[in-house]
Amino acid sequence: MERAVLLNAPGEPARVEEVELDEPGPEEVVVRLLAVGVCHSDLYVRESGGWGMPFPIALGHEGCGVVEGTGERVVLSWRSPCGGCRACERGVPRLCRSPNRARRRMRRAADGATVTPTLLCGCFADRVVVHRSQAIPVPEELPPEQACLIGCAVATGVGAALNTSPVWEGARVAVIGCGGVGLSVVQGARIARAAEILALDREPAKLEWAARLGATETATERPPDRRFDFAFDAVGIPQTLELAVSLIDHAGIATLVGLPHEGAEVTLGLKGLFDARAQIRVSHGGDMLPAEDFPRLARLALDGRLDLASLVTRTISLDEVEGAFAEMSAGGGIRSVVIR
Ligand SMILES: [Zn+2]
Ligand SMILES: [Zn+2]
Repeated sequence: MERAVLLNAPGEPARVEEVELDEPGPEEVVVRLLAVGVCHSDLYVRESGGWGMPFPIALGHEGCGVVEGTGERVVLSWRSPCGGCRACERGVPRLCRSPNRARRRMRRAADGATVTPTLLCGCFADRVVVHRSQAIPVPEELPPEQACLIGCAVATGVGAALNTSPVWEGARVAVIGCGGVGLSVVQGARIARAAEILALDREPAKLEWAARLGATETATERPPDRRFDFAFDAVGIPQTLELAVSLIDHAGIATLVGLPHEGAEVTLGLKGLFDARAQIRVSHGGDMLPAEDFPRLARLALDGRLDLASLVTRTISLDEVEGAFAEMSAGGGIRSVVIR
């Protein structure tokens, strides 16, 4: 029997359940998972009562696996552009609104209920069915527990610094929040040859990671009288976005990367924004183009320019996802990865 980590109802903990997979349809493939990272967005699904999705919901969206039939090693993508929306048609697939998806092919074994996959993946599971464009080939030399991080945290963080708000050589960069995404922004800024990279987090332990991964300075509080060309908010709460805006220099760019909760609001002084020519941008998953970005990120990792190994602080089994959420809520570790 196959297994998957499901949320069965709002407010309930995640639970390993037996599931059944229907046959894949046209343009769909079956992927057997090797490693799946536990991302804040999975916890968000639980905390937000399902993120607007119908129950039951399969959690997990940062997966590396093998395509059944071809044996190809792939990383799953939740943002493979459709080719047909307004953004795709005008040639900017990084801004696609309606990424490709498979039909819902997973059913809860107990009652046959159709399962909704988180972020079109739902891959805390033995196997999943995805649209074939969601399965991006990556080199097998990269260990699966590292490769999987490319699918969300790393593509999101590095992509925010290279795609959404491209950091230039010599730039001054501030990064707020040093979890898997924030630390990937730090690495993206380092790859872009930023001159200054300030990492901000309340947890001193996370700042040690940030320093190891490329931050030139770290702080638990906002440093006075400092200005930056770029400020990235990898947290996504009102205080951190306000902080990001307050940290940018003239014509600087503040980028919202973290996923905000429903109803979160900020108040910004218009005159200050205008006078400073401030720019505020939103990054969805680093505005990734997975077919291009995933192989490039894998290559950077294999060349030693992108440190994925340090981001994996714990490997766990499918049964331990709920425990990983508890650790995440407590602020410990960077990435727990479910390995098979
Ligand atoms: Zn994620
Ligand atoms: Zn599109």
